[in-house]
Amino acid sequence: MNNIKYFLPKSLEEAVKYLSDNNDAKVLAGGTDLIVKWKKTGCPDMHLMDIRGINKFAEMNDLSEGFFIGAGATIEQVESCEKIKADFPILSEAARNVGSVQVRNLATIGGNSCNAAPSADTVLPLIVYEAEAVIVSVSGEKRCTLKDFFVGPGKTVMRPGEMLKGFVLPKPKPCTVVSFAKHSRRAGMDLATVGVAVKICLKKGEKSAEEISVALGAVGPVPVSVKGLEKFNGADLSSDNVLKEIAEFSFEQASPITDVRGSKDYRSKMIVQNVKDCICKAIKID
Ligand SMILES: Cc1cc2nc3c(=O)[nH]c(=O)nc-3n(C[C@H](O)[C@H](O)[C@H](O)COP(=O)(O)OP(=O)(O)OC[C@H]3O[C@@H](n4cnc5c(N)ncnc54)[C@H](O)[C@@H]3O)c2cc1C
Repeated sequence: MNNIKYFLPKSLEEAVKYLSDNNDAKVLAGGTDLIVKWKKTGCPDMHLMDIRGINKFAEMNDLSEGFFIGAGATIEQVESCEKIKADFPILSEAARNVGSVQVRNLATIGGNSCNAAPSADTVLPLIVYEAEAVIVSVSGEKRCTLKDFFVGPGKTVMRPGEMLKGFVLPKPKPCTVVSFAKHSRRAGMDLATVGVAVKICLKKGEKSAEEISVALGAVGPVPVSVKGLEKFNGADLSSDNVLKEIAEFSFEQASPITDVRGSKDYRSKMIVQNVKDCICKAIKID
């Protein structure tokens, strides 16, 4: 018989105190990653702290600096939130692409980031929307931009005793256009072979960018936030050559591997193609 130690805190204060006193306790949110991994590893003894009893952990609300999404909000709540659909449409779209209805009803947005899989769907829009992760412990709160949150497969910057409270997303500028692509082997119930999110702030009335952000998923050990894209500010995005240059520049920062979902060569081609397609879709060029 396996030994499962289980604790159900009722408040965030109680949860962080428990984590500080019990460094071996694992945070349980929806369990769609944690419990699957636990079964795969032969159901070893486990110490769980279930955060689903924490009041307000799934809250989403407006702040003066942006929009707050609680780590405990389910993927379904994120997908169907009208505010997210209006202001952060590719976050809603990415949420719609996660697993199945059953998975989306259990899985949380916080768990999708904390699991630190390079293929996690909601991470890419969060990166291009410049989301900050709000990390909490007995010492208080601190913030980390999501692009700096991941340190390796399954590893984040969070240290023992810390947990994710939620994300703050600054409201995008009015000139912003976005797009998201999940390239996978099947239309549903599959992880991304390559994921791309693009956010472009366009110059008024033009097809040239004031600012471009690109995030890539499933192309290396951690999700990639492409650096150095400011060199394309002002470039004409309706030019095929410019699109090719941006896509190839983005690809250089990826380190795709061969696995069950695709070969290194196939992934490499799909990164370039999907970045080009995403920019065209965002600025509405066929
Ligand atoms: C059938 C199936 C299909 C799937 N399809 C997809 C898909 O298409 N796309 C996709 O991106 N994912 C997919 N997933 C993966 C999974 O559903 C997501 O990663 C999910 O968002 C994880 O959230 P959770 O609440 O279930 O996390 P859990 O499993 O509860 O936790 C995951 C990890 O994060 C930690 N954690 C969770 N919340 C916190 C917190 N607040 N603070 C600190 N640590 C925390 C846990 O300790 C654990 O290490 C799929 C899973 C299944 C089983």
